[in-house]
Amino acid sequence: MFLSACTNDDNLKDDLIGTAEVGQIDPNAASCDEIDFGDWQSSQYNLPYHPGESRQIGLSSCSGAFHSVGTPDQFAVDFEMDIGDYVLAARGGTVIFVQESGVDGNYPNNMIVIRHIDGTFGQYMHLTLGGAVVEAGQTVSQGDLIGYSGATGFADYPHLHFVVSTPLRWSFPYFSIPLTFKNTIANERGLLEGRFYPAYPAE
Ligand SMILES: [Zn+2]
Repeated sequence: MFLSACTNDDNLKDDLIGTAEVGQIDPNAASCDEIDFGDWQSSQYNLPYHPGESRQIGLSSCSGAFHSVGTPDQFAVDFEMDIGDYVLAARGGTVIFVQESGVDGNYPNNMIVIRHIDGTFGQYMHLTLGGAVVEAGQTVSQGDLIGYSGATGFADYPHLHFVVSTPLRWSFPYFSIPLTFKNTIANERGLLEGRFYPAYPAE
């Protein structure tokens, strides 16, 4: 239904640190059916929008296309948002990278990367031009406003591509981590494509 282009900035694909090749599909990757998503009620993550709002999910874990099994964005989630909607920190941490020079409908892919205390990286992509209200080095708390959504990079429509990647390496191709969210309805298998998820007030 929302299957469309959604991936990282091509410029970032040149920034290879590890051994994986761009576009490589890991033949040993487990499908989402085989993955333990953890207990959603004790998840470290809140939805990246204000309590009271409800957002529909585009591509999600193992949706196919650019979120296919074995690709870097296997466990990424696309939240439908308009250009200029508030994006909140799903989890607190330290901002380590900000790109906000892209114009909607074009490159680069505007993004904010936040390193969490466990070393994982929360990555917020396709933000609008000038769509970051944080700077590298800044500490943010869960629920803080960090930026504004958009359609920069490889995005056919405005949305927030949110992915959490494993420690030590955040640049593409990273390894994504399965996610659940705490302040919403039950999501034992993560957020499902096409569904709406209301954000409840944080505890
Ligand atoms: Zn996406």
